Amino acid sequence: MKTKRIARQTVTFHHYSTVIVGAGAAGMNCAVHLCEMMKHKGIKDAEKRIAVVTGGLKLGASRMSGSDKQTYYKQGTSPEIPDCAEEFAKTLTAGGCCHGDLALAEGISSLREFAHLVQVGVPFPTDAMGTFIGYKTDHDPAERATSAGPKTSKFMSECLQRQAEAYGIQIIDKQEAAHLLTVGSGKSKKIVGIVTVQKSKVTASEWGISVFLAANVVLAAGGPGALYKTSVYPEGQTGLHGLAFRAGLAAENITESQFGLASTKFRWNVSGTYMQALPRLFSTNANGKDQREFLTGFFPSMSKMATDIFLKGYQWPFDPQRIEKHQSSLIDVLVFNETQKGRRVFMDFRKNPIGSAAMKPFKIKDLEPEAYDYLDKAGAFQATPIKRLAHMNPLAIDIYKENGINLYKEPLEIAVCAQHNNGGFAVNRWWESNIPHTFVIGEMAGSHGVKRPGGSALNAGQAGGLRAAEYIVNVYGGDVPKYAAQQKQINQQLSDLIAKLNSWRKSSGPTPNSVIAEIQDRMTTSGGHIRERHDAESALRDALSLYKAIGHRGLKLTSPKSVTAALQAEHLALGSAGILAAIVELLKQGSGSRGSHLVLADDGLTIHKDVINQATGAPLKFKPENTKLRKSILRIEFNEKAKGRFKCTKVAPRPVPTSRKAFEPAWQDYREGKIYK
Ligand SMILES: Cc1cc2nc3c(=O)[nH]c(=O)nc-3n(C[C@H](O)[C@H](O)[C@H](O)COP(=O)(O)OP(=O)(O)OC[C@H]3O[C@@H](n4cnc5c(N)ncnc54)[C@H](O)[C@@H]3O)c2cc1C
Repeated sequence: MKTKRIARQTVTFHHYSTVIVGAGAAGMNCAVHLCEMMKHKGIKDAEKRIAVVTGGLKLGASRMSGSDKQTYYKQGTSPEIPDCAEEFAKTLTAGGCCHGDLALAEGISSLREFAHLVQVGVPFPTDAMGTFIGYKTDHDPAERATSAGPKTSKFMSECLQRQAEAYGIQIIDKQEAAHLLTVGSGKSKKIVGIVTVQKSKVTASEWGISVFLAANVVLAAGGPGALYKTSVYPEGQTGLHGLAFRAGLAAENITESQFGLASTKFRWNVSGTYMQALPRLFSTNANGKDQREFLTGFFPSMSKMATDIFLKGYQWPFDPQRIEKHQSSLIDVLVFNETQKGRRVFMDFRKNPIGSAAMKPFKIKDLEPEAYDYLDKAGAFQATPIKRLAHMNPLAIDIYKENGINLYKEPLEIAVCAQHNNGGFAVNRWWESNIPHTFVIGEMAGSHGVKRPGGSALNAGQAGGLRAAEYIVNVYGGDVPKYAAQQKQINQQLSDLIAKLNSWRKSSGPTPNSVIAEIQDRMTTSGGHIRERHDAESALRDALSLYKAIGHRGLKLTSPKSVTAALQAEHLALGSAGILAAIVELLKQGSGSRGSHLVLADDGLTIHKDVINQATGAPLKFKPENTKLRKSILRIEFNEKAKGRFKCTKVAPRPVPTSRKAFEPAWQDYREGKIYK
C-alpha cells in the first residue's frame, strides 16, 4: 500500500494479482478457490495476492435476502433418482437464450461446489444415512432443490468469508466503486483495477480515494437492485452495471429479470410455504381501510382461487405463460392491478381465504389434487394458515419476527417486486468477459436464459467463481503487476475523476437522491414486469437525457459525504439507460411476453375482461411469446459516440458441448493446459 498526491488529493494505491469486487456468496467463493488453487500451484503468499473489495460486507442479496426456505438448486443427490450434468443443462437451457456451455459447466461444477459449501460449514440437512435431502421445485424430476433454511445464501457467504479469513485473504470493506480503470483500446483493452471512495474518509478537502490495481479483476457486485422502486432486492444493493458498461463490457439477456410477490416493509420473498399455508389475500385503500377480497371476482370457485394461491408457492416468479385459464400468475396480475389503483395488498395468516357470496366457503378438502395431496403429505390440515405455516416451516415465521413483524398479530403487505436479473455481463465458458483478464461471476454475469429453475442462481454463482479461479491461476498465474508503463493513463483517469467530483461541489444539477428516485420510478413503470413498446421508447429517451444532463451539469452534493450517493446515481443512470435500450430493441424485434414480463399489445390476448389497462380503460391485452427469439440472445454494448449510445447485436446461443475424449488423450490435454484454449 502506497499513497500518492494526485490532483491535490491523497490517493492510496494497493497492488494485487486478482481483485474481486463484491463480497457475496459468489465473490467470497472465488476468493477461497483462488487462494487454494494458487497454493496448489506452489505460488508463494497466495493470500497476499488476492483482495475482496466491497461497498458493504453485510450488504448484497446473499447476505440480506431469502424466502421461506431459500433454495439451492444442484444436481440431484437422491439415492434412488439418477441425474446427470447433461440433463441439468437441458433444464437450464429449456426456456431459450441460454448458452449451452455455461449450462453444462454449471451442471458439472454443481456437486463439487455443493460439497465445497458443506465442507466450509453450510448446514444443508441430511437424513440418517447422510443423504442430502432434496425437494422438487415445479415438477423437477430429480429433486434437485435443497435448502439450509430461509437464510441459505447468508450462511453461504458467512461460511465462505470465515474460510477466506482463515486463509488470510484481505477483505476491504466500505469501498464504494467509483471507476473501473482501463488501459489500451480495442482488442488490447484491459481493466487494470478499480477506484473506490470510502465514505468515512470523505472530508471537506479529501475524497477518500483508493486504487486497487490487479492483473485480473473479478466483478461479483450482484444484480442492479437499486434500479427499481418496487423491489425485494435489499436496500443498498447498487451493483456496478453502469461502470461495467462504461468500461466496455458487453451484456447479454439484460432484459430478463425475475419479478414476483414479496413483502415490502421487510423485503423478503413470500414464496414456498408462505403461499402453501393458504393465507387470506385482501386489499385496502391507501390508509389501510376499506378491506376487500379483491381476488374473488376473477375466479370461478373457491377451489380454483385457493389452489392458485397454493401454487404460487413453487410457481413463484411472475410468468406470463401462466396467466390464462386461471393459472397461478393471474394472482400476480391481480395484485399488481390492485396496487395500480392506489390500493394496498396484504396476506393475512390468521384467516383462511374468504370467497364471494357465489363461492363455497374455504375447505382444504375442496382444493385441487396437487394442493390437497401436498398438504396431506405435509400433515398440514390445521385450521388456520398461521398454524399450517408453523407446522410446515416455523423458521418462516421467525424471520419476520426477527425483523419486527409478528405474523400471529398483523397482516403482511406485499407487491410484485423486482427480484433477480437473469441476464448480465457476457461471459465465456470460463466466466471471462469480452475484455481479457476481467471475469464476471454471480448475479452480475449473464449466465441464465429467459427462464431458470428456482435456486439455480446460487449454484451459478458458485460454479462461476470456481471456473474463473481455475482459469486465472492456470492461465494468468499469480503475478502482481506494477503497471509502471501505464501509470500516465491511470493518473489521467484519476485526475479526471477528481475533477468531476470537485465540480459536483459547485454543481447546480439535481441531487443524487432525486436522480435515484426518478430512475427507480421509471424502471418500475417501464422496465418492470409489464412492458409496452411506446412507453419503453419514451422511458429510454428520458433515461438518456438524464444521463446526458448529469454529464453536463453534474450532481449537486448536499454534503461532501453524499458523494457516494452521487456516484451511485451517475452509474445507475447509465445502467438503467442500457437496460431500457435493450428492452426497446427486444420489443422492436417483435418479442412477446416471456420469462417474467408481460408485453402489452392492443391486438394481443385478453387477460381477463375485468383486468383493465389504467391508461385506456379497455381490457388489458398481452402479446404471447415470439418463440423464434429463443435462439437469439440480445447483446448490448455502450458506445459513447454512437447515436443512442448503445449498440445491440444478436448472438446465437452456444450449444451444449457434446464432444468427449477417451481418458488418455483427455489427460494429456489437461497436463498440457489445452483445456484452457
Ligand atoms: C428476496 C430474494 C430471494 C432470493 N432467493 C433465491 C433462492 O431461493 N435461490 C437462488 O438461487 N437465488 C435466490 N435469489 C438470488 C440470489 O440471492 C442472488 O442472485 C445471489 O445471492 C447474488 O449473489 P452475488 O454474490 O452475485 O451478489 P450479492 O450477494 O448481491 O453481493 C454483491 C456484493 O457486491 C457489493 N456491491 C454492490 N454494489 C457495489 C458497488 N457499487 N460498489 C462496491 N461494492 C458493491 C455488495 O456490497 C456485495 O458485497 C434471491 C434474491 C432475492 C433478492
